[in-house]
Order: sequence, then C-alpha cells, then structure tokens
Amino acid sequence: MPDRHDHWIDGHAVAPAGGAYLPTLDPSTREAGDEIAAGSAPDVERALTAAAAAQPAWARSSGAQRSEILLRVADVMDAHTSELMELERAATGKVPGQLRVEVEMSSAYFRYYAGVLRAQHGRTIDLGGDSHTYTRLEPYGIIAVITPWNLPLNQACRALAPALAAGNAVVAKPSELTSVSTVYLARLATEAGLPDGLLNVVTGTGPEVGTPLVSDARVGRITFTGSVATGRHLARIAADRLVPTTLELGGKSPILVFADADLGRAAAAAASSVATNAGQVCSATTRLLVEARAHDELVERVVAAVEKLTPGVDFGPIITEAQYRKVLDFFAATRATGVEPVTGGGPYENGPGARGFYIRPTIYAGVAPHLPVAREEIFGPVLVTMPFDGEDEALALANDSEYGLVGSLWSGDVARGLRLAEGIDAGQVAVNGGPMTIETPFGGYKASGYGREKGIEALHEYARVKTVSLSLR
Ligand code: NAD
Repeated sequence: MPDRHDHWIDGHAVAPAGGAYLPTLDPSTREAGDEIAAGSAPDVERALTAAAAAQPAWARSSGAQRSEILLRVADVMDAHTSELMELERAATGKVPGQLRVEVEMSSAYFRYYAGVLRAQHGRTIDLGGDSHTYTRLEPYGIIAVITPWNLPLNQACRALAPALAAGNAVVAKPSELTSVSTVYLARLATEAGLPDGLLNVVTGTGPEVGTPLVSDARVGRITFTGSVATGRHLARIAADRLVPTTLELGGKSPILVFADADLGRAAAAAASSVATNAGQVCSATTRLLVEARAHDELVERVVAAVEKLTPGVDFGPIITEAQYRKVLDFFAATRATGVEPVTGGGPYENGPGARGFYIRPTIYAGVAPHLPVAREEIFGPVLVTMPFDGEDEALALANDSEYGLVGSLWSGDVARGLRLAEGIDAGQVAVNGGPMTIETPFGGYKASGYGREKGIEALHEYARVKTVSLSLR
C-alpha cells in the first residue's frame, strides 16, 4: 500500500473533505509513489479559516519574535535534510547533487528572511515642525502560494519565508505531482514552534484547490510560479479581485558567447543548462548565441560535454509521461521542418535511462530564429544554437523572445559585458557566470511575469505601506 499524505491545516494533518486521494509516480522508475489528498473547496475553506484566525496575533508579534521562530524552522529543516531530499527524490527522480543544493537553499530562505525582517521598518517623513508623519509596513493578511513541480520545496520556501517574515499567514497549494515535501515542511514548521494556522498546505489539482483559493476574498495577495497559461488565468481572477500578484512564469533564456570569452567555462555553462534538472528549469539558458567565428568550436565543446552526461547520475528524468511525450513530439515536429539535432533527439533505448522518463541531452546547431524549437519553452534537455556577428545582432537575437527571465553573457571584455547587460530585456543577467543567490532579486520581464522574489525586494512584496500623519497643533 502506498503512503497517504493528508493536508496540513491549523497545525495538524487533515484528511480531504471528499475522502479522495491522488496517485503519484516516481519518474525515474515509472513506479507508483505515495498518494496525496485530493483537496476541494471545503478543504480550502478550512485552511483559510485557520489562517484568518492565526494571522492577527502573528502580525502583532515583534520582528524579533518572528525572526526567532523562522530561525528555528530553518534549524529543524536542516536536521531533516535527508528526509526532505528523499521525499523530493521520490517525486521528481532528481540526482543527489541537485537535491542537496535545492533542499539546503530551502532552509536558507528562512534564515535569510529571519535576519532581513529585523532591519525592515517604516520611516519618518519630516514635513516641518508641527506634524509627525511616518510609514508602517503592514502585512496583507493571507497569502496564497501556488507552486509547480520542477523545484517544489525550493519554490515553496522562496515565497513562504518572506510572506511569513512580513507577518502574513499562508495557504500553499503545491503541484499535485510533487506535494509531499511541502506538506512535510509545514509539519516541520509546526514542530519548530510556528503557531498553528500560519502555514497551511492544501494539496490537489489547480482547478479544485488553486482556483477557489485565489478567488476567496480573504486572500490578500497571490504568489504563483508556473506556466504562462495558468499565470494568465490567475491574473484575470486577481484583476477582478484587485489583489496584487507575483507571477514567476516561463523562459527561453539566451546565453551569449563572444569569441574573446573563456570558451571552456562558457561551454560548461551551456551544458549545465541542459543537464540541470534535465532542462526543466524556468531560468535555463536554452538559446546559445555564439559569435560566428567561435560558433563551431563552442558547439563542438558543448556536444562533447553533454555526451559525457549519464542519466540518473548527472541529470534526472522528465517529470511525467505526458511531459516526456511532449518533448519527444517536439523532436518529431522539428524533424518535420528539416532540422536534425547534432546530438540526442530521442529517449534511451536501453540501460538505466530506459527505465524512467529520461531524454538524451539534445542540441540543434545553427537553427533559424523563427523556428518553434528556437522560440518555445520546451522544458526538457534541449539547447539550440545560433551564430551572430557583432553586438547589435547579438542583442537583437537575445531579445527576440516573448520571454525575459534571465540572460547569460560571456566575454573577455568586461565593459562589453556590462554594456550588453543593460540592453538585455530580462530580470537578471549574469556576466561571465556571476552568481545568483538568495540575496539577489529574481523575476521576469515580458511574458516571464512580474513581481520579484528573493532579496529584500521579496519582503517589500509581502508588506503594504501605510502612511500615518499627526498634526501637533
Ligand atoms: P502549471 O501552470 O501547470 O502549474 C503550476 C501550479 O499551478 C500547480 O500547482 C498547478 O496545480 C496549478 N494550477 C494549474 N492550473 C490551475 C488553475 N486552473 N487554477 C489554479 N491553479 C492551477 O505549471 P507547471 O507545468 O507545474 O510548471 C512548469 C512551468 O512553470 C514552466 O513554464 C516553467 O517555466 C514555470 N516555472 C517558472 C519559474 C519561475 O520562477 N519563473 C520557476 C519554475 C517553473
């Protein structure tokens, strides 16, 4: 019998009102996994009632008190790193190195916001002698957090930690494919002393749980990470309700490499965008734009690097059979346009890669920018390359996308790197592999969404500014 996982509401495991559970699958073996509660509107109602009851006292507590509790949540998570890694592995089939980075970063969000919140205050506005005017930072009340399957725990913590730090309660709805780690996190948070009702997790499908959640008048703000289509749907609901929303959506991000770059490091970066989570990363840089005279050499290096990757060791499977078939269909459609990959382009016929939904790292070299393979987010281990001549063409190609999540730029000329970083339409640009951490704000331009997560900016998103002005006359 598979294990069954209930919702986590008001500090307790709660069975679904409808009594039904949804199956899950380990994509690295295609074997049945645990079952999760199939939530519905009454479960959402119960979670919102608990959140509404718990939030006012949390909002009144001092920053120092909230900080202490969030630090304890991080400690308890760190004491359970291996369990969290195993839950995440069972749902996603990810490889250990990837799992460790994601789980360790998840608790680090709590540590970071536990610190930052203590330095976050309103300000005094000096309007002259006979008045006293100041701002207060006030929470929204209840935040709805809806997350996808590709970095489940990490994306949940990225939103939960600043939302709680700012004095809000949260009702989270993780992806129905990967819910168990988020439910377990809520249990650990309760164990760490987070008051009941502040972090509730209702599992189930988007239409059954997500839509009633964001439609409820008690939800003051929405944070959504996922596809553009669902983001649009939720943004329409948010527009009707006039509630602010953070949307972290998809990407087809460029990596620009000039001939004067360190080609070895640039090739490794391009290969890792295919390998990391098998390309199922919103910020994956899957369009490799290379200065024409270095194009063939760089492509050769990237091909050599990805051909060394072993499924199950260096990269994981595609999350579901449906998504696996979608990537394979993309290969067939691309072949129908007369374009063949220089490596990969199919599944594994035998060996460990054939057991799960693994796809060979795939590179299409020198593709025309108008082709679907060069424009659409594939969410698989697929890289396209395009040659360019000069900075203007590089920028034009980089920005020729409906998305604008990240840009990666490699050049031996640092001034050029910074000049082009200004020109790239994306929420973040890494020059020569510059780091992106919890401290660095993250979010999209264009169809990649709006609002910012991570950094101090995320804490601002979860607090409203109120101005109070007093006449002293
Ligand atoms: P998805 O939009 O299908 O699902 C995301 C979440 O929304 C899930 O929890 C799902 O149950 C819920 N949902 C689906 N339909 C809903 C509805 N009608 N009402 C309410 N909720 C609903 O996305 P996915 O397939 O899980 O994730 C892949 C996408 O997420 C990719 O496009 C990827 O680029 C994007 N993504 C973006 C970021 C980022 O930070 N920008 C990070 C990871 C993934």
